[in-house]
Amino acid sequence: MSKQGILIEHLSKRFGSGDTAVTALKDINMQVSPGEVVGLIGPSGSGKSTLLKCLGAVISPTSGRMTLGGSVIFDNGWKMNDLSALRRDKIGFVFQAPYLIPFLSVLDNVALLPMLAGVPNREARERAMNLLSSLDVQHRAQAEPVRLSGGEQQRVAIARGLINQPPVILADEPTAPLDSKRALAVVRILNDMARQFETAVIVVTHDEKIIPTFKRIYHIRDGVTHEEVGEGRHVG
Ligand code: ADP
Ligand code: MG
Repeated sequence: MSKQGILIEHLSKRFGSGDTAVTALKDINMQVSPGEVVGLIGPSGSGKSTLLKCLGAVISPTSGRMTLGGSVIFDNGWKMNDLSALRRDKIGFVFQAPYLIPFLSVLDNVALLPMLAGVPNREARERAMNLLSSLDVQHRAQAEPVRLSGGEQQRVAIARGLINQPPVILADEPTAPLDSKRALAVVRILNDMARQFETAVIVVTHDEKIIPTFKRIYHIRDGVTHEEVGEGRHVG
C-alpha cells in the first residue's frame, strides 16, 4: 500500500439522524498514488461531492479512515487540530462553481493563496501569470472576474486550485462548461502537475470528453466505490 498520496478506507457519511437521516457514503475505499490522476464517476446524488468535501476537511465523515501524504488525518475522528491549515497547505480545490473574489483582479485571485502563505507579491503574481498562460486566459489577467465568460472563470478557478502545488488536488466537474479542446487542455495540465509535483489528483466528472483519459476510475453506486480500469488515452 502506498505510503504517500491518498488512502481512503471504509469511509462513511450520514447526514442528520433518526427518521430523516441520509446515508450519503456507505463504504468508500480508494487509493491514489503521487503523480496519479483518477476519475470519480457516479450518478447524480451518489455522494461524489460529499466524498470530496470529506477528503477536503470541509465536512466530517461519520466513520472510517483517511490518510494524506502518509499521515492519518481521520480515523473515526479528526487526527489533526488545525483543519484550516490542512486545507490551505495540503489540498487544492477546483470547485464546480468558480468562487472568485469579485473585487480582486483575475491575477490577484490566483496569486492570493501564495501571497497569504508569505510568497513575495511579485513572485506570486509571476507564478499566477505562468499558470494563467498555460490555461490560455492570460489576456484576462487584469480584468474583474465578472467580466469573464463562464469558461474563462472556470479556467481561473483551476489556476487558483493549482497555484500552491498542493500534494492533493480535488476537482469537482472541472471541465463541465469547457469545449473539447479546453477540457483536454485542463486534463493535460492536471496530468503534468501530477507528474511534476507528485500530486495525487481526483477528478469528479460526467464529461464524456475526458473520461477516456483516465487510467483508473472509481465508480460510486449507492455510497459504495468500485474500481475499474480506464482507457488511459494519451492527452498531448
Ligand atoms: P453527487 O455530488 O454525487 O451528486 P452529493 O454528494 O451532493 O451527490 O449528495 C449525496 C447524497 O447526500 C444526496 O442524497 C444528497 O441529497 C445528500 N446530501 C448532500 N449534502 C447534504 C446535506 N448537507 N444534508 C443532507 N443531505 C445531504
Ligand atoms: Mg456533486
